[in-house]
Amino acid sequence: MALAYIGLGSNLADPQAQIAAALAELEQLEHCLLSQVSSLYFSRPMGPQDQPDYMNAVVAIETSLSPIKLLDQLQAIENNAGRERKDNRWGARILDLDILLYDQQLINTERLIIPHYGLKLREFVLLPLAEIANELILPDGDSVKALAQQIEKNGLKVHSKLR
Ligand code: ATP
Ligand code: CA
Ligand code: CA
Repeated sequence: MALAYIGLGSNLADPQAQIAAALAELEQLEHCLLSQVSSLYFSRPMGPQDQPDYMNAVVAIETSLSPIKLLDQLQAIENNAGRERKDNRWGARILDLDILLYDQQLINTERLIIPHYGLKLREFVLLPLAEIANELILPDGDSVKALAQQIEKNGLKVHSKLR
């Protein structure tokens, strides 16, 4: 089994309910065991500011799915939630599920880049990750704890417990 970390985000159609529904779907995924769940966080949008605030969380999943099969499953969950794929980068979305890490693997293909390139740069990813994996060391040797302490703060707020 591999240990993967997934970032969840939503800013449309009742984001809190979207994240809760996505968690329920992740719990049902075959060949996957949901092992840790961060709190639910509020964050300000990246990029275009004329969109609602986001809700974010990070979860850990033990899985025997390959990284690309895991991505297929996550995209199916996004599609089931009604996500529309548009050209506007970082625009509003019902549900976004990103693979942040997959064990210590480095993947750089057209469909999949792991670790996720935004992992170290995004407060709404790094702080929930640190909540559930403070002792984690990234493939490049950086510590999640140190990165979370150093990242520029952008007003991320804890909203509630998810589990
Ligand atoms: P960002 O990638 O900056 O967070 P986004 O999540 O809005 O932006 P999407 O439109 O959801 O981007 O995804 C675009 C493509 O990114 C997906 O079709 C997928 O193939 C690719 N991708 C590359 N690496 C990853 C990853 N680690 N997790 C999820 N998708 C990835
Ligand atoms: Ca994303
Ligand atoms: Ca995505």
